[in-house]
Amino acid sequence: MWIVPETAIAGLVDAGAAFDAISDCFASMARRDAYNFPVVREALGEGRQYGFKSGLDRAGGVLGVKSGGYFPGNAARGIPNHQSTVFLFDPESGRPTAMVGGNLLTALRTAAASSLSIHHLARSDAKVLGIIGAGHQSAFQMRAAARVRQFERVIGWNLHPEMLSRLAETAAELGLPFEAVDLEQLGAEADVIITITSSDAAILHDAQVRPGTHLACMGTDTKGKQEVEAALLARARVFTDEVAQSVSLGEAQHAVAAGLIAPDAITELGAVIIGAHPGRETAEEVTLFDGTGVGLQDLAVASLAVELAVAKGLAVEVEV
Ligand code: NAD
Repeated sequence: MWIVPETAIAGLVDAGAAFDAISDCFASMARRDAYNFPVVREALGEGRQYGFKSGLDRAGGVLGVKSGGYFPGNAARGIPNHQSTVFLFDPESGRPTAMVGGNLLTALRTAAASSLSIHHLARSDAKVLGIIGAGHQSAFQMRAAARVRQFERVIGWNLHPEMLSRLAETAAELGLPFEAVDLEQLGAEADVIITITSSDAAILHDAQVRPGTHLACMGTDTKGKQEVEAALLARARVFTDEVAQSVSLGEAQHAVAAGLIAPDAITELGAVIIGAHPGRETAEEVTLFDGTGVGLQDLAVASLAVELAVAKGLAVEVEV
């Protein structure tokens, strides 16, 4: 069994490699070669959350689980609140094949998913990127988005304005001007909007979003969370990583519960990737990707990390 520690990941997997791995993963899901198992998520008390996301990709020969969660006491210990580890198994024998640090990989695979949605669904002439949220994930989101469109500037909003410096610094790193704006201006000027917050109520409203916008709603990954008004999903053409998660714990949970959209109106992004769905059909329509984060994404980037770590001599082998 190989061990690939968290500290090795940054030198192994970059945004481009994650983009290709997640594209292949969503394509396998669309071909029904790969599927996710039900998610387990438990509250441990004192704000701690722990769970498992797992799945099988028959075509890729990948079986495994990401275990981890949110541990709010960690900041005081000097380590990240979000902690995760991926375990991979041989799908034929069930023998463990690898244990991989999952923290950076989670950020890379989440940003890869939203950038894939931008690549396939945003207007090709998109120039202004709007970001709602300025936490840990937001910088990864911005960098990945900038790989797939020629953005000329970035505008951003965050509930906690003191965090906006992260967006300004990341935009500067990409050579893009950044402006902090209110939500009215963000909706009126952005061609692409990424939402990546821990919000539990709609931040962005339907009337604030102009025609032709593409939204990647990435923060809602649990029952009860919400980033945009449900009416926006009723107006938009809605895409997701997996419909079952989208309607139960993703951004679409609210629009579906309110009867504004039916689950069968939601298309998996993988269908667009394999050419089974046209994706955006007009320059005026609003497209919305509900990125809920599936276990197969974690397994895809972890498998890649193992392959690269073994090739570079950075994986540690142990007998189990
Ligand atoms: P973080 O803790 O670093 O940042 C949280 C962000 O949410 C900040 O911008 C903060 O200002 C904002 N926020 C907090 N409470 C809010 C509220 N009530 N209303 C509006 N904004 C609020 O978190 P992060 O690591 O950047 O992750 C952001 C979100 O993305 C989390 O909710 C996380 O669970 C989710 N996430 C989703 C996926 C996925 O695959 N879809 C993957 C990783 C993380």
